[in-house]
Amino acid sequence: MISIAIDGPSGAGKSTMAKIIAKENGFIYLDTGAMYRAFALHVLNNNYSIDEINNDIVKELYDSFSLDIQYVEDKQQMILNNENVSNRIRTPEVSLAASRIATLPAVREYFVKMQREFAKNKNVVMDGRDIGSNVLKDADVKIFLTAAVEDRARRRFEELREKGNTEVTFEEVLEDMKLRDKIDSSREIAPLTKAEDAVEINTTGLEIEQSLELIRKVIKEKLCGF
Ligand code: C5P
Repeated sequence: MISIAIDGPSGAGKSTMAKIIAKENGFIYLDTGAMYRAFALHVLNNNYSIDEINNDIVKELYDSFSLDIQYVEDKQQMILNNENVSNRIRTPEVSLAASRIATLPAVREYFVKMQREFAKNKNVVMDGRDIGSNVLKDADVKIFLTAAVEDRARRRFEELREKGNTEVTFEEVLEDMKLRDKIDSSREIAPLTKAEDAVEINTTGLEIEQSLELIRKVIKEKLCGF
């Protein structure tokens, strides 16, 4: 089985690239961030504030948490307790909540196990923060995708606009991204770091196709040796 790990900060283009790469190669794509987002939504749905959440509450919440991942026309659908929450998990509120709950050991343990199970017996492209450095340490290809924070915020802002969110301003998205970068990089367990054997690709100022070309080149080198 072949696995490709794509890690990096929010808005670097991981999911856009990972989806295309998976499709081109006939692999299954797993967006691991969506799992943390779904659990964050579950926490909020249960009227807990993110500030009060701890490992004990998390363990209790697992009893009422069921997550099903489905694919409709290659698009990953997140089904939380029988409700398709694929859009609801994309709000700025859930983004920040996901970053916060993802620092808890009980949360990481649970989802890392689920992610490893998922990758068993499948060719996968998985994106996240700790895939190459932790979840799939033996991944055949490891890519660390980065871009300047302003670029990443601009992309996320445009994405939100396209989805009809006209309330949020660019400055808010930028601040939110800086805060999430800080939380994701400074947490104690599995922080956002480039695995030693990952290839770093900086997509600042690049179009999608240009970034894809760089990724394809790395994959070819790693899998085919040229
Ligand atoms: O990738 P995305 O922005 O959807 O992820 C939401 C949050 O989930 C991230 O800010 C990060 O804190 C957390 N996450 C993580 N480990 C992963 C994927 C996401 O901690 N493998």
